[in-house]
Amino acid sequence: MVNINRNNCNPTTATTVNNNSMAVCGTDNGKLLFEDCEMPKGLREPFIKSGYRRAYSTPWQCFKSLFYINNESFNVWSHIIATCYFFVRYGMAALTQSNSILDPFNLPLLASALGTLTLYSTSSVAHLLNSMSERGYKMCFFFDYASISVYTFTCSQAIYFYTRPMNTQWIIFESPSLYLSSAALCSFLVTYGCCMTDAAVNRFSTLLRVLPVLAAWFISTLSFIVGMTLCSCHATGISCVAFTACSGVPFSYFLRHAFHFFLAAFMYSSRLPERLIPGRFDLIGNSHHFLHICIALGTEYAFRIVELDINYRKRENMLEETTAYVTLFNTLGAAILVMFINAGIAFWFARALKDKECVHKH
Ligand SMILES: [Zn+2]
Repeated sequence: MVNINRNNCNPTTATTVNNNSMAVCGTDNGKLLFEDCEMPKGLREPFIKSGYRRAYSTPWQCFKSLFYINNESFNVWSHIIATCYFFVRYGMAALTQSNSILDPFNLPLLASALGTLTLYSTSSVAHLLNSMSERGYKMCFFFDYASISVYTFTCSQAIYFYTRPMNTQWIIFESPSLYLSSAALCSFLVTYGCCMTDAAVNRFSTLLRVLPVLAAWFISTLSFIVGMTLCSCHATGISCVAFTACSGVPFSYFLRHAFHFFLAAFMYSSRLPERLIPGRFDLIGNSHHFLHICIALGTEYAFRIVELDINYRKRENMLEETTAYVTLFNTLGAAILVMFINAGIAFWFARALKDKECVHKH
């Protein structure tokens, strides 16, 4: 049984090392969990008082932390489970849609699978390894932000190709390159903005990180929102037509998707409920745990919208119209390109951290 007694932490008996932001207890051999006052400032979470893993853990120690309860257990396991769940979900959807997995009709779905699995697997690894060092902590979350951007881009692709309304006279819906370039640009700005606000911490940085993500979300769901609000479900010459306008089911999924997404953004930026009772929700029930669950549920509802439209288009023999603009490049190719560029932005910020450390040492 792991001892998580909060009274163990006594900073007055701790040895101060290097700077006054860090205190390491002299007799912590074999100890698995630590209090916030035993952790360097850069490894603490606001309002989380206990359950920290050892500061400066090795990768092996981080891996072993999978098997005992600490304040990252919920974050790591929730997204490991989500990775497995969406792997099976997308796998089954792709296999049942077409004879060939690389059929053009399947490609936006595969791109979306790539983004979704990247998001959840990167998040799990980031939470697992974030106790290695203060710089490692920031690096982990730079790549986590990059994976959120990749997800929003690939989500845009799936929603665009499968649910975009027809005959809207909107140029953006007739030109995949225009729509996808805007979505890609937005995803780069999200990564840049999030890394920037994380690197230069201030009291508004959490809120500032939410704003670009909301903008990216709006772009990724634009086709659906326009189809739902402006179009009819009956093809009449040149009038705007969208399947989503015909049925209340995708709309209810969209409302649930939006609800979970906004709830996630609210919990993340408000740090509730742990702000009200610091230390009470260290192991379970804090805002980041709600964020992880809400994001996974939001992803599931977005997936259901796409799934409904895929089935509708197959039923109505709209395969040709759907795949008219689909190419390997503007689906999987674009997703991989956007992934590399976002990873490059995260890497650039990680290097800047290293340079800053070097400057401090001299
Ligand atoms: Zn997280």
